[in-house]
Amino acid sequence: MAAAAAPGTGRLAPNYAPLPVTIATADGSWVTDTAGRRYLDLLAGYSALNFGHRHPALVAAAHDQLDRVTLTSRAFTHDLLDPFAEALCGLVGPSVAGGAAESMMVPMNTGAEAVETAIKAARKWGASRGITSPTIIVAENNFHGRTTTLVSFSTDDDARAGYGPFTPGFRVVPFGDAAAVEAAIDSSTVAVLMEPIQGEAGVIVPAPGFWPSLRALCDDAGILLIADEVQSGLGRTGTTLACDLWNVRPDLVVLGKALGGGIVPVSAVVGRSDVLGVFTPGTHGSTFGGNPLACAVGLAVVDLLSTGDLQERASTLGDHLQARLDDLVTEELLVDVRGAGLWAGIDVDPAWGTGKQVCLALLRRGVLAKDTHGSTLRLAPPLTISVEDLDHGLDQLRDVLAEDG
Ligand code: PMP
Repeated sequence: MAAAAAPGTGRLAPNYAPLPVTIATADGSWVTDTAGRRYLDLLAGYSALNFGHRHPALVAAAHDQLDRVTLTSRAFTHDLLDPFAEALCGLVGPSVAGGAAESMMVPMNTGAEAVETAIKAARKWGASRGITSPTIIVAENNFHGRTTTLVSFSTDDDARAGYGPFTPGFRVVPFGDAAAVEAAIDSSTVAVLMEPIQGEAGVIVPAPGFWPSLRALCDDAGILLIADEVQSGLGRTGTTLACDLWNVRPDLVVLGKALGGGIVPVSAVVGRSDVLGVFTPGTHGSTFGGNPLACAVGLAVVDLLSTGDLQERASTLGDHLQARLDDLVTEELLVDVRGAGLWAGIDVDPAWGTGKQVCLALLRRGVLAKDTHGSTLRLAPPLTISVEDLDHGLDQLRDVLAEDG
């Protein structure tokens, strides 16, 4: 039997089950629904809205660009493409192997496309070294996107069911287990691809030694370390990249979500020029990747992160967030809390109800959050949220857990 259609016209394919709120306008950390009711946004588009809704600098950059040129395709170039590449490599280059001087970027649109781009780069780089049947090591409970290749190595049955045949060439190991990675590396291995902190899995933070071990293993084996920072990157963890938490410099970094400031889809792979240099004309691309509007917003996003102030703010406010959530564990209102910076995964006592029920109770109190699975919720407020708003949201969470169960 077909799944129940979401409320609405019935014209939307039922591949989502949104919470019952219809957003009409938004500003900063707040959204307003069609009935004029305001909600505090503690999800921030799964980290796509790191700078809040309609950040003035990003809106101004987009408006300005709308009056100039919006699309050229890559058949031609335009005046913001090189500046965007230069700026992004300036921001992220120091955090990738080779450093800023040796980094380059491939502009794409969505996170999934950029992960696909990193996989293609790794395979082609392997082919150039004589590896004709390459494998890439990935983690259990990964989330990298929804394309056929990316769900080929998902360990989530719902994400895979009915979509085969799948793309071969991936080997799955437990997340956080360096010995398992070591055991999985053989002469066919070209790369290890993982999220530094697993987002969709419930903000799973590995032990501090895990990513340094991955770096060492990849160096020893002469293979690529690829960090999918689509959700964790661009300030979320209190550092520019999550990998900066451990001073690990991957060979390739995948960025998306916040790179478009919540205004346009912008993604990119940034990394070693000798690896991304495998893409020669005609071997990879995208009509919209690196379009003028995307570059204008992307440049403004890089500018917002260039002083380090927002990362600093995410770190300080993040400490406050984690401390308040730890208090809820002490009060036995939460079972577990994990996180880094302004990003937290929280486990509700299943006796209280499901994560979705908590989200519905929060919604009634004017707070937006989203469950990920079972009794786990993710909180990822805008990095620009005021401490008063953050406290207000956490007060509501506390009251929900203490009173509404
Ligand atoms: N990688 C990670 C780590 C993600 O969290 C996501 C989206 N949740 C993606 C890739 C896919 O991004 P998109 O939805 O833009 O394709």
